[in-house]
Amino acid sequence: MTDWIAAAAALTPETRLFIDGAFRDAADGAVFDTFAPRDGRRIASVAAAAEADVDAAVRAAHRAFEAGVWSRADRRERQRVLLRLAELMLEHREELALLEALDSGHPIGDSLNVDVPNAARVVRWYAEAIDKLTDEIAPAPESALALVTREPLGVIGAVVPWNYPLIITAWKIAPALAAGNSVVLKPAELTSLSALKLAALAAEAGVPDGVFNVVPGLGPVAGQALGRHPLVDKIAFTGSPAVGRGFLRYAGESNGKQVSLELGGKSPQLVLADVGDLQACASAVAWGIFYNAGQTCHGGSRLIVEERVHDQLLEEVLKVGRSLVQGDPLDERTQLGTIASETQLERVLGYVDVARAEGATVHGGGRVRPAGLEGGYYVEPTVFDGVDNAGRIGQEEIFGPALAVTTVRDAEEGVRLANESDYGLAASVWTSDVTRAHRIARRLRAGTVWVNAFDVADVITPFGGFKQSGAGRDRSLHAFDAYTGLKTTWINLGDGAL
Ligand code: NAP
Ligand code: MG
Repeated sequence: MTDWIAAAAALTPETRLFIDGAFRDAADGAVFDTFAPRDGRRIASVAAAAEADVDAAVRAAHRAFEAGVWSRADRRERQRVLLRLAELMLEHREELALLEALDSGHPIGDSLNVDVPNAARVVRWYAEAIDKLTDEIAPAPESALALVTREPLGVIGAVVPWNYPLIITAWKIAPALAAGNSVVLKPAELTSLSALKLAALAAEAGVPDGVFNVVPGLGPVAGQALGRHPLVDKIAFTGSPAVGRGFLRYAGESNGKQVSLELGGKSPQLVLADVGDLQACASAVAWGIFYNAGQTCHGGSRLIVEERVHDQLLEEVLKVGRSLVQGDPLDERTQLGTIASETQLERVLGYVDVARAEGATVHGGGRVRPAGLEGGYYVEPTVFDGVDNAGRIGQEEIFGPALAVTTVRDAEEGVRLANESDYGLAASVWTSDVTRAHRIARRLRAGTVWVNAFDVADVITPFGGFKQSGAGRDRSLHAFDAYTGLKTTWINLGDGAL
């Protein structure tokens, strides 16, 4: 077992902006600090991109696009380079995982076995797809040949959050680059380090200068500059609803660029009395909210349960919660790490008071201070029972290890409450009746519906939401639609004489 704490102490992470194939400081020399959620201590100062730096990155990306070094490169060359990037990510798995765990508070075991391999798989999957997609010939009149081809859009601005830095970044940059676009990535302030390592690996893999740029910085400065830049053709965003709407505004007030949004959820896990294996259900329900300390866009934060199985299920869920090994993210035994920041920790703890005020019964919900890591951002697995779905606990995204439990009389009421949300990202239904499962799955308004499961997925299927959970989809071959435009080439073949 690696001594991750010693490895972290020996780390010298890259902290500069990556623009046009080179690392450099911000033009005005500005920096911001990044902290380790495990103990609240500063890890490093990271270059903070200002508008001028974002402009330099976008112009480099635009120049590379126009020059055709990547956008018009042979498809197989793009494929070769991205396959190499996926390989390099696995070769540097330990360093990437350590950066991710240290900076975000993910347990190191999850970073090693989920974050890095998943992100590498996403890069490899889109690379492999490059020479497997065929364009169209439309049924034009005999006198014409009409081709419908996909073309890259140009410069993609990717703006990502801190909850799954590497995975969400891969969901966006892999299809964007595979399709031939140039990319400027703005990682979250809390978690820029793994993105900068990724930039170094992309350069090593052979991504040409200017094609992939990384500009850490503050959202309202660097994020906004990207959102308003006239040479950015599309913004691919994951984060909060308020900032997502901000990007629609930036687009409307600048060049009308395309915007795709993934804005989180309040995903219901609907458990009916005819649930088959209650134990398996309890485990999935608990992991569905406690994994990554609940900082998951599609986290199953609402348990809607038929009253006949409420008591037994709740008891089992609490048992699973209590069994989780909580502690230092740099300990390989840890299953439940930290909240990503002090602010977010306060927000989560604040909801415990809201739950009490709304009359819910609170299980857990306390701050945890492991010995030697007292400054870290740890919170107990928390369950709010007797939640009114219409209240704040039933409606607001808490983004912590906090489950809201609401009891219903029957499936009809369960589906109604499951859908009574502004969000529509994911949902699950648990029943042993297969036809009922299908009927209910059709009624649930969510981009992903699981039957007798939660949080199982892969790059092969689309991910995104209905209603205020956003617009557009990450993952699957459909993601190419987000990073390409259709071109019609109509060729006159004349009157038929040879
Ligand atoms: P956020 O503020 O929406 O941040 C997402 C990204 O947008 C970050 O890169 C952020 O940069 C950037 N940004 C922030 N303000 C901006 C602005 N005015 N203009 C342009 N870009 C801006 O989300 P957050 O603060 O990290 O989290 C807040 C809440 O959002 C969470 O509690 C949770 O409820 C939700 N959330 C959802 C998801 C999801 O996956 N859907 C992920 C994370 C959070 P900085 O990091 O530098 O501010
Ligand atoms: Mg950090």
